[in-house]
Formats: sequence, C-alpha cells, structure tokens
Amino acid sequence: MKDLAAELTRLQHEHLYRRRRIIDGPQGVHLSVDGQKLLSFCSNDYLGLANHPDVVKAMQDGITHWGVGSGASHLVNGHSVAHHALEEELAAFTGRPRALLFSTGYMANMGVIAALCGRGDFVFEDRLNHASLLDGGLLSQARLQRYAHADSNALALKLAKRDSGEKLVVTDGVFSMDGDLAPLPELSQTAKQHDAWLMVDDAHGFGVLGEHGGGCVEHFGLNMKEVPILIGTLGKAFGTFGAFVAGSDELIEYLIQKARPYIYTTALPPALAEATRISLKLIQNEHWRREKLQTLIKQFRQGTTELGLQLMESSTPIQPLVIGDNAKALAMSAALLEKGILISAIRPPTVPEGTARLRITFSAEHSESDVEHLLNALEQIK
Ligand SMILES: *Cc1c(COP(=O)(O)O)cnc(C)c1O
Repeated sequence: MKDLAAELTRLQHEHLYRRRRIIDGPQGVHLSVDGQKLLSFCSNDYLGLANHPDVVKAMQDGITHWGVGSGASHLVNGHSVAHHALEEELAAFTGRPRALLFSTGYMANMGVIAALCGRGDFVFEDRLNHASLLDGGLLSQARLQRYAHADSNALALKLAKRDSGEKLVVTDGVFSMDGDLAPLPELSQTAKQHDAWLMVDDAHGFGVLGEHGGGCVEHFGLNMKEVPILIGTLGKAFGTFGAFVAGSDELIEYLIQKARPYIYTTALPPALAEATRISLKLIQNEHWRREKLQTLIKQFRQGTTELGLQLMESSTPIQPLVIGDNAKALAMSAALLEKGILISAIRPPTVPEGTARLRITFSAEHSESDVEHLLNALEQIK
C-alpha cells in the first residue's frame, strides 16, 4: 500500500503542500478569512457579481419557485424551463445556434473532448492549458500531443504529421495562470488548414473581454466556422456556478447523446440557472465593469513598473508576478497576509516547475485606493 504519510512529508519539504483557508461571509474584495479581515486579490469573480444583490435575489426567488435540488439528470427529469431559457440566452450571447449547460467547467471539458475523440484520434493541446483540458485528453484515450505555448507554427508541425483519425485542437482562450490570450486567429487558420476541430475554453475571457463581454471570440471577431467549439464557465466572471458549451445544433445534439459527464450527473439547481440569467444581463449591459477593470489594470501595471517589478505580458485581470522558487513565493504571500492582503502563491503542478508565482487578480469591485494599497505593500516586501 502507498505510504501516504511519506508523500505528505515530501510535499511539505518541497513547499508544495496545499492548505485551505476558511472564508466567513460572501465572496468579495473584502473577506473575512480565518477570523482576519483581508483585502483579496485572488478571486476569479472579476466583475464582482458573485454577491450582486440582483443575482442574489434571482437565486432566492428561484428557490421559492423551484425548490433547491433539480432532482435528476437533464435526460431524466431534471431539465427545467429555467435551464432551457438560460441555454437559449447563452446561445444568443455567443452568437451560436445552441448552448448546452454542464454542471462544471471541468466536466464540460472532459465531456466534450472524450465525446469527440477516442482511440486512434489526436488531441493537440497548448502546454499551458488548464488541467481539465489535459484530463479530458487523457480520458478520451486519443493520442495527446502538447505544443509550445501560444505557438501556431509548433501546432502546424505536429498537425502535419497526422493524416488519419479525428484531430482536435484545444486551447484556453485566456490562460488561467498567465493572463495572456491564445492567438486564436492563427490557431483557427492552422486548424482549418489541417482539417482539425478547434475548441476554445474561455473560462477567463467571458464577461471580461469583448465589448459585450463575449470573451476572446468577440475580442478577435471570430465566428462559429473559426471556433466551432466554445466553452464558458459560470463560476468566474458570471459569479455563479456551472459551465456551457456553445456551437452548432449537430454538436449540441451529439453531446447530449454522447458526453458522459453530461448524461450521468445531476442537473444544476434551477435557481442557479435563474441567478445566472440575471448575471448574464449584467455582463451584457454593465460596460462600466469592464472599463473599471481596465483602469485598475493600467494603474497596477504603471505602479509595478515604477517599483521595478517585472509582470508578465497581460491585458486581462490576471496579472501574475512570477517569483520562481516555491518557498519564496509562499513567503511573499505570507508577508502580504501580514499586511492584510490575500494573494495565494500558485505552485507546480498548477504552473511549470520553477515558475511559482503570485497570481494577482482584479475585480470591478476594487477601488483605485485598493490598488494603491497593494502597490504599497509590494514595495515594502519586495
Ligand atoms: C476554472 C477553469 C475550469 C473549470 O471550471 P469549473 O466550472 O470551476 O469546474 C476550466 N477551464 C479553465 C480554463 C478554468 O480556468
């Protein structure tokens, strides 16, 4: 039997041990954590919708109307009017004919990749793709090939070596730990030239990028021919929970028949779908939230330049400060904590070996003085 204690000790020695902090109270930029009041810069609630009064009210009203549990999977009797309406609104939002709700983004990625590919097929993934995309590739039992980060030429070379089987190219839209964008116009052309599908997981782009929050595909102006498989998650800028796939009618019908993580799981609570419908309206209408983010990002990047801190190239609310060493990243996170600032240290295997970092994220609910406060703290600890 595996020596669990030894493995736990090894993780501690290598500064890779993970601990959960206990949050008391709703998600927001001001958090009560283990009894301490903190200013948080590590949430994915980019637009500040997780505790928005209208979203909260929609969920409360939803519960009054629908009760709490959905009772069954979508294919048995768990698929409600609320789920269906949200799917239609997400389809309209993404400019695709259909959208299909999944219970989580992790499951959507596993479900889609494994439904489309199997033994004898090929899945091509960016080296820095999210774990759920890599796990989807493994679950499919197709040959998984990873290409150099954001490099469409490297992808083309790998695609050119394969002339049989399905070919599926999979990428994050906004890379979750780096904040940069995939070169989608080039990837889409490369995929098309090699008769491959392109699947984009825009978990961190929806709500944040594009004039109406339509994410990377709106930002780059890409239609369904260019990005036939589009994934969004609802637990980040949407501020709720769950995920969706948007695409053609055939794609969605096929997934309903074949995607096991869709078929064999309980549908989301319908009240959550009601809350997400309101959050979608806020995303589309409240442009100021995206503008506010851009103001904060600009202020932060200017401030760090003045401090001589080197940030990664990113125009999104994900602004990582790469430290390198695991222990040093942990120490910096702890020093910030003493100053009342919560930013977690992200370490391998979430990021490549030797690139441990402070993953700093912004929310439209942050103020400019919050950013000033963060810059002052970074100056003191650097
Ligand atoms: C968070 C995330 C997911 C997982 O979504 P959940 O709904 O939290 O399961 C998938 N892909 C990317 C890129 C993510 O950042």
